[in-house]
Amino acid sequence: MIRISAEQVERIRQLGEKTYPDECCGFLLGQLDGTYKQVLTAVPVANEREATEKHHRFFIGPDIYRRCERQARESGMEVLGFYHSHPDAPARPSQYDIEHAWPWYSYIIVSVMKGKSDRLTSWVLQDDRDKLNEEKINLVDSQGTYIWRTPCP
Ligand SMILES: [Zn+2]
Repeated sequence: MIRISAEQVERIRQLGEKTYPDECCGFLLGQLDGTYKQVLTAVPVANEREATEKHHRFFIGPDIYRRCERQARESGMEVLGFYHSHPDAPARPSQYDIEHAWPWYSYIIVSVMKGKSDRLTSWVLQDDRDKLNEEKINLVDSQGTYIWRTPCP
């Protein structure tokens, strides 16, 4: 399961709207708290796909990945997952997303319909790598108090 503050969710939504009609992307950095992934910050990075593909694909290159991982470690955090937007598409993984997903990481997807952020979901790759399963998002305020929890899929 994943726990994230309303502020960080808002950052992801805003970035998705700002990057529309292209996909935004970034890292989810934080700490493991038992079975929870506690996201502390959502770090935006450039979508490195070619310009003609950015409206429905994103790519985070190995250099950015290494840099972000190092920065996370230096501040006592780790890479817990990634987020990206789906311009004018539902907040569920595409075939491309499934094929490029890595085990264990959380993948937050925000749908941005006509420039306005819509549903926001989180996904984890199934063990046989066949598909991404939706996971619960526990939204907390800055004090760590629950605001809401997404219903079971
Ligand atoms: Zn996608």
